[in-house]
Amino acid sequence: MKNSKKKQFAVIGLGRFGGSICKELHALGHEVLAIDKEEEKVQEFAPYCTHAVQADSTDEGVLRNSGINNFDHVVVAIGDNIQASILTTLVLKDLGIEKVWAKAQNAYHQKVLDKIGADLVVHPEFDMGIRIAHNMSSERIVDF
Ligand code: ATP
Repeated sequence: MKNSKKKQFAVIGLGRFGGSICKELHALGHEVLAIDKEEEKVQEFAPYCTHAVQADSTDEGVLRNSGINNFDHVVVAIGDNIQASILTTLVLKDLGIEKVWAKAQNAYHQKVLDKIGADLVVHPEFDMGIRIAHNMSSERIVDF
């Protein structure tokens, strides 16, 4: 389904979470800048985004050169490397990115991301667990 209101997004980290966001935004017709430090991931997602860039997002200079400053909505989808996730979020807020949404790996990570100014912090497994419980409780089917 193409979207008549085309927007610009950037997704940093192309694991299962970031990768699915990237693909879906692209399928919805938006402009998507996809960034990962692994060249293999960049190659894999090149067909599912507008620009795919191999970069370490903790490096402010590298991130700036990727053109990310032109994006006002960025998702940080780095989970395992909590330090990289925190540094990337800090750099993005320093660069003046308006909306930075970040994935947290655990409650501590979530708290730190909140404190350093992430505009939305998601904890997918935890959030989905709550949602499923509510859906089970109200006997509704899981929806979007
Ligand atoms: P998943 O979404 O698959 O559950 P995850 O939460 O386990 O992933 P990671 O596997 O740690 O997260 O990272 C997701 C992606 O982010 C990986 O493809 C990894 O290469 C990329 N990544 C990690 N650190 C950086 C970094 N500093 N700069 C750019 N990309 C990074």
